[in-house]
Amino acid sequence: MQTYAVTAMPIPTLDDVRRTLKTTFGFDAFRPHQEAIVIDVLAGRDVLAILPTGGGKSLCFQLPAVVADGLTVVVSPLIALMKNQVDALDAAGIPATFLNSSLGYDQVRERVRGLANGRYRLLYVAPERLVNEAFYDDLLSWNVERFVVDEAHCISEWGHDFRPEYRRLAGLRSRFPNVPFTALTATATERVRADIERALALRDPAVHLGSFDRPNLTYRVETKADAPARVLAFVRSRPDDAGIVYCGSRDATERLAEKLQRAGVPAAAYHAGLDPGERARTQDAFLRDDIRVVCATVAFGMGIDKSNVRFVVHYDVPKSVEGYYQETGRAGRDGEPAACLLLYGRGDAVRYEKMLADRDDASDGANAREQLRRMIAYAESTACRRRTLLAYFGETLPEGGCGSCDSCLEPRALIDATLDAQKLLSTVYRVARSGNAPVGAGHLADVLTGKMTEKVERRFDDRLTTFGIGADVTAKTWRHLAGELVRLGLLADSGDDYRTLSLTAEGRRALVERTPVRVVAPPLTVAKRSRAERSAADDGDESLFRSLREKRKMLADERNVPAYVVFSDAVLRAMAREKPQTLSAMRRISGVGEKKLADYGEIFVAAIAREVAPEH
Ligand code: ADP
Ligand code: ZN
Repeated sequence: MQTYAVTAMPIPTLDDVRRTLKTTFGFDAFRPHQEAIVIDVLAGRDVLAILPTGGGKSLCFQLPAVVADGLTVVVSPLIALMKNQVDALDAAGIPATFLNSSLGYDQVRERVRGLANGRYRLLYVAPERLVNEAFYDDLLSWNVERFVVDEAHCISEWGHDFRPEYRRLAGLRSRFPNVPFTALTATATERVRADIERALALRDPAVHLGSFDRPNLTYRVETKADAPARVLAFVRSRPDDAGIVYCGSRDATERLAEKLQRAGVPAAAYHAGLDPGERARTQDAFLRDDIRVVCATVAFGMGIDKSNVRFVVHYDVPKSVEGYYQETGRAGRDGEPAACLLLYGRGDAVRYEKMLADRDDASDGANAREQLRRMIAYAESTACRRRTLLAYFGETLPEGGCGSCDSCLEPRALIDATLDAQKLLSTVYRVARSGNAPVGAGHLADVLTGKMTEKVERRFDDRLTTFGIGADVTAKTWRHLAGELVRLGLLADSGDDYRTLSLTAEGRRALVERTPVRVVAPPLTVAKRSRAERSAADDGDESLFRSLREKRKMLADERNVPAYVVFSDAVLRAMAREKPQTLSAMRRISGVGEKKLADYGEIFVAAIAREVAPEH
């Protein structure tokens, strides 16, 4: 008969697993794949789990760590994240700790002693630790039952976030051949998946591949015109929401952040050129809901473990669909509705294309151009955005619209614009013939609407026969039409900073032959709110939600942790809807486990009772 090592805990049953989900984590049901992954982990198998951001990957290793014996060691790339994760575990009553370079000597000693005494269920470490021989010796003596590799795509050079330190994990595997590995990532491409399996030498791994659809996200693309004003209006229209505005350059992040600040929005810029102290402060303030909007380059990335990011705006077109998916994926991790808006200008795309074409590292350049081409196709498409995104990951959506992207909500009609196109094309023609320098869409709009600007005066453009012939149409619509004519190939964009327009051969033909021109109707200025966004507004008592959120902020600040460590937005929404006024009613709210019930239950019950009490 086989003998098993004597362990302090009995082998967990399915019942234990399901009970712990509620008592420790406070959740009523598993999200897709979670339960199956937990069972495979508990069975001691190697596991590769590919779930989208917000899919609930942490639970897949945290729950086994709670119900089963031994230490779970989690390798995670981001030092900044470890403290938050450990704080969150702490708030749920799970003994966990981390070791990284941010700790002093005494702190490390204290923690190492705790680990030797079996005080913790989880240990987070940075991959840098894995070069240290003494550390391997320690691990051998700590009863490690499971290794977890978070953000496992970092091991692959094909991923979007390669980290050479991750290559050290191979050494870990060879030293602990009998300890199972769980690898987790949100990166779905086949090549990255294969890389992870190979580099970690996973043995007959149980592979769990989740759907990459994020149903709580809405996707929209708008023409990029008056972009700073558009961002300000967007941010103002959601005064309670936190979000990220991704910009293509450091300069743009600073200019935009400044504009928002001047308008009274708590905003900050974030990019790799700022000193680390300032970056850390900004990130921290964002986590604590002190800063509402971060205007960032892609440097503001994986490190943001904030579940209540309610919007992600792209001020400039991203360089690939995968990048776009990852960046928008940072919105709505708590499962509540969140909005993704891309401001797209054909001119930006032309500029990038030029830049890439100038690069001579041929193979790399060709790949980058192909990535960009697919991104442009996404932006210019009138098909369902969600379907287009998922197709990129090899997933197909069932027939019919998704109901929560601009293409599905407001299918944009093709309208006949032959007459206006004639006016615009002939203005471009006349400007060229006048011998003056070529101009961009903004100036053309001024000429057509008959606006006497300084530039018009200086160039005598009011003498053009088309001056003022388009005053019945707004300047914005003229700019939109110019963009459409570029897209249709009737006008060419210079692609430099001046973005001047010139007639193409086809444009000249259209002008002479009066070819019918059909364009996509200009976008609505006041975008209709999508179904997902509307339902958020109907979901529970808004003023109660707000006061619960204030309460949460106060508690979080007192404890010096990010707000969501207390409760996520989803939990507060549920409270605002159900209005629990006793502890046992509070226990039934999804996301309220025993520890949090004990710590915060009464405070929130009292807050709810105060709000819903009838007036005397
Ligand atoms: P990922 O790492 O996959 O992006 P997280 O582990 O951070 O996702 O989980 C995202 C959010 O979902 C967190 O707020 C987490 O508490 C919540 N969550 C995880 N599992 C469940 C579940 N079964 N039911 C409800 N919420 C869950
Ligand atoms: Zn759609």
